[in-house]
Parts: sequence; C-alpha cells; structure tokens
Amino acid sequence: MRHPLVMGNWKLNGSRHMVNELIDGLRKEVSSVDGCDIAIAPPFIYLDQAKHQASGSRIMLGAQNVDINLSGAFTGETSANMLKDIGMKYVIIGHSERRTYHKESDEVIAEKFAVLKEAGLIPVLCIGETEAENEAGQTEAVCARQLDAVLKTMGAPAFENSVIAYEPVWAIGTGKSATPAQAQAVHKFIRDHIAKHDANVAAQVIIQYGGSVNASNAAELFSQPDIDGALVGGASLKADAFAVIVKAA
Ligand code: 13P
Repeated sequence: MRHPLVMGNWKLNGSRHMVNELIDGLRKEVSSVDGCDIAIAPPFIYLDQAKHQASGSRIMLGAQNVDINLSGAFTGETSANMLKDIGMKYVIIGHSERRTYHKESDEVIAEKFAVLKEAGLIPVLCIGETEAENEAGQTEAVCARQLDAVLKTMGAPAFENSVIAYEPVWAIGTGKSATPAQAQAVHKFIRDHIAKHDANVAAQVIIQYGGSVNASNAAELFSQPDIDGALVGGASLKADAFAVIVKAA
C-alpha cells in the first residue's frame, strides 16, 4: 500500500515571517492527519529556519534543487551532503522551470538523482510534457525519455524509495489542471514503464501529480488509482488551502 505525499513547492516565494506563520498555521491544521506524508520546499535561504519551525510536527522539509558536486570551487551551489546535514528529507529535481530557465538536461538531472541517492535523500523527479508536445501526441515519449535518463544509469532500483512528480508543463501555474482521467492515464503509463524493468519497484514508487492542484480539484485527482498525492505550487503558499489538499489525500 503506497502512502501518498503532498508537498508544497514554494518556488521563489517566502520570507522569514511567512515561514513561521505558514508552518504554525499548517501544523495546527494537519496535526491529526495520517493519510499522507506532508512536506514543504521553501527557498534554500529559509530551509534551516523552516526545519526548526516544523520540528516535532509531521511536516518534512525538502529543497528545490541540488548541485551535482559535493564540494569544491562551485560558487553559488549547494551539495546533497549539506542538505542532508541540515535535516532535509526530499529534494526536487528536474522541475520544468529549471529545465527551461537553467537549461538542465536529462543527463544532468540523472546525475543529481544519483548524488541524492548516494547522500540518502529522496529525489522528487519532475517529468512532463509541454503544451506543444502534448498537442503533437508526444506525452508518453517525453515522459519515457525523462525516466530513461535515470533508468539507463541506475536501473529500476533508482526508484526504490524515490518520488516521481508528473507535472505537465501546460498545467503549471495556468489554473488549467489536467483532468483526473488525463493525469491517471499518464501516471499509469509511468508506472507501467518502470514495471518493464521491475514490477515491485513500479508498484511501490510514489507518483505525484503537479500542475494547478488546488483545494477544489485535489480530492478527485487523488481518487485515481495511480495518483499518489501532489506537488503543489501556488496553493501551497496559504496554510488553509494547502491543508485542504493535504486532508484530501
Ligand atoms: P502550480 O501548483 O502553481 O501550478 O505549480 C505546480 C508546480 O510547478 C509544483 O512544482
């Protein structure tokens, strides 16, 4: 039985004040929730503060990125070991915003996946097609290519105790979520693709949906058999809205 994960990706949003206020609000709302795991991923600069603010609660912490190197002359970067050191559990990699604005390739993302596993952190690997790819009928091919970059170097064991987030790029921040049926079809494709390598790993891997998830559409998305929670952007920036999504899982 898979335990869903609802995770808030704050992206480039937040402040010291917001970290304290949102976590205090959220911990009250979710104190009795046990149907899913809960995590938030504020910007790097607030991770340590957020970790302290969330201590003793069910709220886990994640980072939004990691470097492929562990130490050395790499100005501005943060390593997997540093994230582990400050108590992170999850790290988002391969988000479409990083693929687009920071030109991250499938290969670099696979390297990030490997350093996270090595450090004992849980990768949250984002995959998904653009609107043009969707319209060209390439959704499955794009998702397969993005998964294969990891499968090629690490094999199916990579996905043991890892998370995949299917985030169709056209649904991110647009208010236009995939329908539950559309998302379910792709989630099933993803699970079947991994099952070609290892059926047990495929049955266990958490596959979140991301893209305009909100308090109104979460429950129906979560009712689909292969949707194991969500990676939430905008709606994770308000404790009450995020709590409704958590409780729907
Ligand atoms: P929105 O929920 O704002 O559409 O963002 C989704 C996302 O990109 C989460 O990583």
